[in-house]
Amino acid sequence: MKSVFKAVLFDLDGVLYVDNTVVEGAIEAVKKVRAAGIPCRFLTNTSTLSLKSLQEKINAMGFNIKREEIFSAPQAALLYLSQRGDPVCRLLLADDVKKDFSGFRQSDTKPDYIVIGDIGDAWSYSLMNEIFTNLMDGAKLIAIHKNRFWQTEQGLKLDIGSFIAGLEYASGTSTMIIGKPSNDFFKTALEDLEVSPIEVLMVGDDIDSDIGGAHDAGIHAVLVKTGKYRQEYVDKSAITPDWVFDSIADLPGFLGIHS
Ligand SMILES: [Mg+2]
Repeated sequence: MKSVFKAVLFDLDGVLYVDNTVVEGAIEAVKKVRAAGIPCRFLTNTSTLSLKSLQEKINAMGFNIKREEIFSAPQAALLYLSQRGDPVCRLLLADDVKKDFSGFRQSDTKPDYIVIGDIGDAWSYSLMNEIFTNLMDGAKLIAIHKNRFWQTEQGLKLDIGSFIAGLEYASGTSTMIIGKPSNDFFKTALEDLEVSPIEVLMVGDDIDSDIGGAHDAGIHAVLVKTGKYRQEYVDKSAITPDWVFDSIADLPGFLGIHS
């Protein structure tokens, strides 16, 4: 059977690897999909690493992914801000990611935009209160993503979504979400591939951002049972994946690739 899908979109974290451990069969699966002539793009909300560091990390694990095949939420935020003239930004980003944003004017007290990504355990009441004050003074909030949690080698960890939700609640403002499940984020990848949504398959471990986002964009989606996947959480969700695989290793067979 020849695949009905002309391209595959992969989430990275939780699908290809968890922390620094490759998901069993992931390298071979991506290789087989590519060898079958199906182009791949990698859509990630990861905001702990710059694009350069992220690509180096992935390829050091044994994958062979080009920089232009990676669509990262911090890069999309960079593009969004650069299209807004010369904005003053407050950057709440990991140091490695911040480097990519060094071209923007910055202020902690009078920003036009507050950009929030993963800052680890730097969160505190005083930081939340400072951002709240910025928002009440008219700053706009840009979130790299609004994920609830992610999987680490130690188990699930609280992600930035709850901080974003708290800031929205207190200030009565809404946030621009850059990464998945944003429609624009998926659209950029589709435009790059020059395919329509129904010709594409998304593979992810996050029922909300990956599967929900893909569905909103008209894209079929596979949920893998690796990474942050939790049966009870998925059972409670209003989102139903089109297919559920034990892992990405099942993908080539599903696509009719048997070599
Ligand atoms: Mg993931």
